[in-house]
Amino acid sequence: MKEVMEVFLNIGIRDVMDMAIVAFVFYKLFMLIRHTSAEQVLKGLVVLLIATKVSEWSRLYAINWILKKALELGMIAVLIVFQPELRRALEHIGRTKLFTKSIMEMSHEDVNDNIDEIVEAASYLSRQKIGALMIIERETGIEDIIETGTSIQGNVSSGLLINIFIPNTPLHDGAVVIRKDQIMAAGCVLPLTENPNLSKELGTRHRAGIGISERCDAVSIMVSEETGAISVAMDGKLSRYLDGKTLRAVLKNAYKPENNKPLFSWNWRQKHE
Ligand code: ATP
Ligand code: MG
Repeated sequence: MKEVMEVFLNIGIRDVMDMAIVAFVFYKLFMLIRHTSAEQVLKGLVVLLIATKVSEWSRLYAINWILKKALELGMIAVLIVFQPELRRALEHIGRTKLFTKSIMEMSHEDVNDNIDEIVEAASYLSRQKIGALMIIERETGIEDIIETGTSIQGNVSSGLLINIFIPNTPLHDGAVVIRKDQIMAAGCVLPLTENPNLSKELGTRHRAGIGISERCDAVSIMVSEETGAISVAMDGKLSRYLDGKTLRAVLKNAYKPENNKPLFSWNWRQKHE
């Protein structure tokens, strides 16, 4: 009893802070995986942990040995199964303002000029029903995507963007990647989304645009060759049938530095909801 009292008496402000931080991080992690397949996996691990402890207390050594091994393997399995999510989480932490250097550094005028050119190109392509896919890199570098295409490195201009997407030209297939005020590459290949809840009428262009927006913070602009409709994907969510004015507003919002999301808020759930 005396020892227990001593433990309580020795709790200092540092210990309270320590526990509060651990609790906060665990709470945030749990909120992240709620309603995802990770929640089930976590529950499974908790059940395994409890069973291991129970078998230890009741001295069922063989069962305890098997459960312990299963738990060890389970930990490794979690790392493998959730590799994409862990990668996104680490990327997200690397994106916090401390380390970043990106479109957020562009001056207000440059941002507006850029948006004007992109909106003009999208509106023209939409009127002419020319299919297009443009990706705007934000904080997460997408060098790996850029490398799948043909390097361009030209200033963003509506003329160049329109020209790239003219049908039956070498670069019209695939996506254009824009970094700051530069068109980095055209004909880039993107990962397709695996979201099963998308409308059947959305083809690979739209699925590619949504796919990249699920994996990083890039913004995708799609112009449908079938309908001329302009869509934007961000964070795995698609907004369809935008007019030039709405597209401008959406892009302005996307370029704003204050829309840098705080640590731990990345959207992990899209894929599973
Ligand atoms: P649309 O409304 O324009 O028909 P959609 O969503 O129905 O678009 P598709 O008709 O399948 O899509 O569009 C095919 C075009 O999408 C391809 O010609 C190519 O330019 C582009 N595309 C398809 N897959 C990818 C990909 N993985 N990465 C980049 N671009 C792609
Ligand atoms: Mg199609």
